[in-house]
Amino acid sequence: MTTIASNLQAVRDAITSAAAEAGRNAGEVKLLAVSKTFAADALREAYLAGQSSFAESYVQEALDKIAALRELPIEWHFIGPIQSNKTRGIAENFSWVHSVDRLKVAERLSEQRPVHLPALQVCLQVNVSGEASKSGAAPNEVIALAHAIASLPRLKLRGLMAVPAPSADIAAQRQPFAQLRQLREQLNRQGLQLDTLSMGMSHDFSAAIAEGATIVRIGSAIFGNRIYQKETL
Ligand SMILES: *Cc1c(COP(=O)(O)O)cnc(C)c1O
Repeated sequence: MTTIASNLQAVRDAITSAAAEAGRNAGEVKLLAVSKTFAADALREAYLAGQSSFAESYVQEALDKIAALRELPIEWHFIGPIQSNKTRGIAENFSWVHSVDRLKVAERLSEQRPVHLPALQVCLQVNVSGEASKSGAAPNEVIALAHAIASLPRLKLRGLMAVPAPSADIAAQRQPFAQLRQLREQLNRQGLQLDTLSMGMSHDFSAAIAEGATIVRIGSAIFGNRIYQKETL
């Protein structure tokens, strides 16, 4: 087995036990392999080990890999910060976008989604308490924004996404994930039908699964540590 294949197996096993511990079925948790900064060959290796959904954070880097791996039926997810002048490449090449955090970007993605493709699946990124980055809508904007995004014709609002600040303590890790889960419950009581909580990364996916994650986004536990080059940033 290659390193990537055995890492993938270890991550799958850890997802299965975190789900069991939470009284959930592991089949409710989708594993997204976060491949930013890794070359197409690494993704091919993961694909051959049974992984078919990949997430990227930088538009140009992603488009190069999508072109290089055209022959594989990969489901591509975009999870990085979105500049409004970069929406077209995303609208035309991805199945999912997890990092929508303002209406202008959502409107552009909807307008630019090609008619021959199914609606773009989106999550609204929320800046939950203790957020590490500046990305994400403020929790008090989420209700209005979610309803506005849900009404756009070429988008399908699936749920919420968050990237909480790292914490070593499992109880502290669970708190922002619980906040995201409660926001989704609130939106669903208002008539939205959100089935997705995109939360949990290599260091905190067990806590996210305990709070109801339906998609975990895992990079370094599969591919190893990232080395950032100037050109990718
Ligand atoms: C890089 C990244 C991940 C994966 O992080 P790891 O710690 O390597 O698992 C998940 N989500 C987002 C939004 C990311 O940018």
